[in-house]
Amino acid sequence: MLLVKSDSTYKGTALVIGGSRGIGKACALRLADSGFDILATYRGNHEAAGSMKAEVEARGVRCELMSFDVSDHEAVKAALEERMEKEPPAVLVYSAGVTRDNLLMWMKKEEWDTVLRTNLDGFYNVARFVVFGMLRAKKGRIIVISSVSGRIGQAGQVNYSASKAGLIGAAKALAREVGKKNVLVNVVAPGFIETDMTDKVPVDKVLPLIPLNRLGKPEDVASVVNFLASEPNMYIQGQVIGIDGGLAI
Ligand code: NDP
Repeated sequence: MLLVKSDSTYKGTALVIGGSRGIGKACALRLADSGFDILATYRGNHEAAGSMKAEVEARGVRCELMSFDVSDHEAVKAALEERMEKEPPAVLVYSAGVTRDNLLMWMKKEEWDTVLRTNLDGFYNVARFVVFGMLRAKKGRIIVISSVSGRIGQAGQVNYSASKAGLIGAAKALAREVGKKNVLVNVVAPGFIETDMTDKVPVDKVLPLIPLNRLGKPEDVASVVNFLASEPNMYIQGQVIGIDGGLAI
């Protein structure tokens, strides 16, 4: 017996932070296919954001863009505080992230700070203003894009691994805080996914580490994010789902 009808009718707005390129863009497109309007944010690549918007709109839903630096608390506050209180999104996908790889013994303070401020502080800056409206609405889905590096660590990425492990801790704690109000918080931890971020990864060196013997595609991540965002029969809370072809078995 079908208990809840799952279809592609209007589902509300999905706020995709870092939605202009790569994994965030794939999530925006997949969520648009599921019937969500998209509110996508990015930092400065207006051209990529414009082309993502056109692709979303071609799917017959609305797409709005906002540009701000997630690491700048005041900028995020100015962009989101009032808007999120009035119109809480149905879904938040936190995908903005950067790398500044270096061995710890050479790592500059700026490299540590940029990665932590963007990947981890940025989540606080955004979620702080989104959660309140979701709690009042007594519903919401939050999906955080962490990384395999946050689960098992990666040499040359002490800063990045710390930020991504921090996101896992933050999401688990938040999941405990807001679960009673029907706000579901989960994490996905991608492995090597083909985006601008990984265009310099030596494929021949990493393939032997991946049981599925291929890099992932942004769509591989987006399908799981879409499931966590839109599946009506949902009893998953505070979990970390690896999307890494078996890299971190
Ligand atoms: P991309 O570099 O392709 O895209 C990054 C996105 O984040 C862009 O939309 C970018 O905006 C936005 N962004 C970056 N910094 C800021 C900032 N300071 N303020 C606001 N927006 C910002 O990255 P991916 O799609 O590869 O990665 C997406 C997420 O997935 C990241 O969190 C990453 O750590 C994670 N991840 C990626 C993996 C991979 O293999 N690619 C593996 C595991 C995790 P703009 O276009 O304006 O620059």
